[in-house]
Amino acid sequence: MESCIFCEIIKGNIPCNKVYEDDQVLAFDDIHPMAPVHVLVIPKAHIPTLMDMSVEHADILLALGKAVQLIARKRRVAESGFRTVINCNEEGGQIVSHLHIHILGGTRLKDELG
Ligand code: 5GP
Ligand code: ZN
Repeated sequence: MESCIFCEIIKGNIPCNKVYEDDQVLAFDDIHPMAPVHVLVIPKAHIPTLMDMSVEHADILLALGKAVQLIARKRRVAESGFRTVINCNEEGGQIVSHLHIHILGGTRLKDELG
């Protein structure tokens, strides 16, 4: 496998501003925030894209969903609202090939889809 920047963050070889961690999930602030709250939630397992997920990853998907809820509360956007984004492959705008969920909030987000 080619070196993966998010796997290096998980291993602690690249620093991050950690927001949440459990045995399956790590979340940290995006290095180039697009909103006042911009957190990336990633599985600790190297899963390249959403298209690589299958039924064997059901527990990871659940853990990611739980982490999103927890982080939304922690960053105080659960009530005001927030957006989750998963970019997939090149035309979807995925730059890092390690599955990640963007949590964006803290302001009224523009209605942009493409
Ligand atoms: P993508 O376009 O792949 O959906 O999003 C990748 C995100 O990862 C981008 O928003 C980018 O700013 C963020 N990112 C890339 N490298 C790093 C890094 O080394 N540390 C952190 N915290 N975020 C990163
Ligand atoms: Zn990885």
